[in-house]
Amino acid sequence: MKLRKVSAAAAAALVLTLTATACGGDDKDSSDTGSGSGGGDKIKIGIKYDQPGLGLKEPDGSFSGFDVDVATYVAKELGYEPNQIEFVETKSADRENALARGDVKFIAATYSINDERAKKVDFAGPYLLAHQDLLVKADSDISEGTDLNGKNLCSVTGSTSAQNVKDEIAPKANLKQLSGYSECISGLQAGSVDALTTDDSILAGFAAQDQYKGQFKLTGLKLSNENYGIGVKKGDTETVNKINDALEKMVSDGAWETAVKDNFGPANYKNEPAPKIGNIVK
Ligand code: GLU
Repeated sequence: MKLRKVSAAAAAALVLTLTATACGGDDKDSSDTGSGSGGGDKIKIGIKYDQPGLGLKEPDGSFSGFDVDVATYVAKELGYEPNQIEFVETKSADRENALARGDVKFIAATYSINDERAKKVDFAGPYLLAHQDLLVKADSDISEGTDLNGKNLCSVTGSTSAQNVKDEIAPKANLKQLSGYSECISGLQAGSVDALTTDDSILAGFAAQDQYKGQFKLTGLKLSNENYGIGVKKGDTETVNKINDALEKMVSDGAWETAVKDNFGPANYKNEPAPKIGNIVK
């Protein structure tokens, strides 16, 4: 099968989710993940720790990336200063459970909105549109039209990237699923993996790392549309609404563009323009 774009039937229910959750009514923030009142409280926010340019825990313990900047802006709008934020690692496969358990108040972690997830969590946003792509060795001949069935691919458990491979992109590929994308890189370097597949935003960040410079390239294939949302506990409509307001403000006051330049500029990632709240690109 040839590479082709995933025509996601997914996410159809999003608008419904965004507008029809007011009846959920179970929520009222009982946990200590953040009440929005500020005043000495902490807020726990889920991010990735191993995705340069999006969510990265630096060796000195600080955090960087576009998701970190978005999360910090949103937290401020909810009443929390940066020193009141506690970032928590939420790996791809753990996100729905982390929200259901109340481990975090919200998640900003390259978290694509889709139907399946929207059954378990609510989403604010979207705040970025990315596309699934392949990261291959600089001398690889994998490109548009290459049959990926039978190839050794690496992706992450619980990601849309892995699901898209299984459903549409290459159901007969030899797909290795690890717990984080950084873990796929050594296989790619060693040649046991032909391509690491996930969002182009993430892959660009890896390719631009000093230690990988010149070793890898993105194929530039837009294999899917990945609409990044901010996940919140199912039924917490109040927080969804507040976060949507914050995201709108972040775009209109220019902070979104600044975050894009700061975090994607170094990787030379050409991002899509800011999405409109509730506008899911299928
Ligand atoms: N955006 C995709 C997803 O939500 C891939 C990146 C990730 O695993 O976080 O699954």
